[in-house]
Amino acid sequence: MYKYDPKSSIADEFINDAEILESLAYARENKANKQVIDAILQKAREMKGISHKEAAVLLECELEEENKEIEKLAKEIKERFYGKRIVMFAPLYLSNYCINSCVYCPYHVKNKHIARKKLSQEEIKQEVIALQDMGHKRLAIEAGEDPENNPLEYILESIRTIYSIKHKNGAIRRVNVNIAATSVENYKKLKDAGIGTYILFQETSYKELHPAGPKSDYAYHTEAMDRAMEAGIDDVGCGVLFGLDKYRYELVGIIMHAEHLEAKFGVGPHTISVPRVCPADDIDPEELNAIPDEIFEKIVSVIRIAVPYTGMIVSTRESKATREKVLDLGISQISGGSRTSVGGYVEEEPEEENSAQFDVSDRRSLDEVVNWLLGLGYIPSFCTACYREGRTGDRFMKLLKSGQIVNCCQPNALMTLKEYLEDYASADTKEKGEKVIQEQLEIITNPVVKEKAKEYIENIHEGKRDFRF
Ligand code: SF4
Ligand code: SF4
Repeated sequence: MYKYDPKSSIADEFINDAEILESLAYARENKANKQVIDAILQKAREMKGISHKEAAVLLECELEEENKEIEKLAKEIKERFYGKRIVMFAPLYLSNYCINSCVYCPYHVKNKHIARKKLSQEEIKQEVIALQDMGHKRLAIEAGEDPENNPLEYILESIRTIYSIKHKNGAIRRVNVNIAATSVENYKKLKDAGIGTYILFQETSYKELHPAGPKSDYAYHTEAMDRAMEAGIDDVGCGVLFGLDKYRYELVGIIMHAEHLEAKFGVGPHTISVPRVCPADDIDPEELNAIPDEIFEKIVSVIRIAVPYTGMIVSTRESKATREKVLDLGISQISGGSRTSVGGYVEEEPEEENSAQFDVSDRRSLDEVVNWLLGLGYIPSFCTACYREGRTGDRFMKLLKSGQIVNCCQPNALMTLKEYLEDYASADTKEKGEKVIQEQLEIITNPVVKEKAKEYIENIHEGKRDFRF
């Protein structure tokens, strides 16, 4: 029997089954207890987060007024810490070879009817040029676990290739990495390669979902973020594939993971992703208990309230309508114009090959997504400044917690949007974007920052690139 200890290095102690079950029981008991729920909301209004147990109660809450208050508070927290900027990124699938057996993923080793592909360095170059020509500056690379086909050396070489390509005015300035759990030594190599965030999703309903392969080792997988932090990667991105039967359990688990990182390393996760199970080759979402929109939206609100300092990411798995709703409730980063097949940016693959990890619901181009965000009053941002300025880990968190980060985010969003408008935007997007830039420049409160931002934006118009605060 494991004992709950957020500072422990043992997965079963920092995400502790008995503690989760107790929290869920407490949530069920109090789901209509106005006094308990109001006290949690009172604490949440301080915008410093709430515990996993309190989050469980809010998720379960059945009181109409309080549920409205949960939504309202999530929106306020989003606005306070993240303002109107929405950071844009794209996934880049390097290889779908995988020796694992995750039941929710079509790359599982037993799936014989998808095409297995691995990009060569030349193919990566072509993919990156296609992504740069769309306007992307930030990528998340993805690869299945396969020591023979996708060894770490391949990933490191691919990162070098991606950073080396400068096509026209394009550049990939931040590469986030989503690959299998690995050793401290390998995380050090990733750190040295200049990665942004190391991303790894962790499902707690583990055994039945990961019946075989190295990923079936729950402890090794779940303790990966500790090893990454020990290796000096202080921006780590957590996530859970929601809809896997026990969403309540998963939610409490991921918040406990965040609490653990904060307790042990003094800095919580940089981001939390909220993918939801969706159709793909060999995957039936019904069988995996896909969760309805309403619950999905509530999960986003509750995470926003529980961990205000953690960015939240949603992908193109979600439809335009769902993305619009959750942007308001707490999402600060989205992908746009994504292809989820290996090599999909250069060439849309024929249906029979089907190498995609999941079906994309939001199929709009990046320009359409940028245009849509502008229309909704957001500032699409291609900013990658923080890690390039050494603002990572606790340095970053201090700025975020004090609210000072907006002095960087806001002008950086405007300057990178300006680059996008100059180099890639359609006429309509350009017109909308220029208007937003002029309006938002005036709102910058710090006069020095405002003047500098104006000057840099003028320089961008004259052809210079890559300014940042
Ligand atoms: Fe492999 Fe990752 Fe898919 Fe699991 S989720 S089968 S590890 S690619
Ligand atoms: Fe993100 Fe930092 Fe840029 Fe803000 S300034 S958008 S936190 S990279």
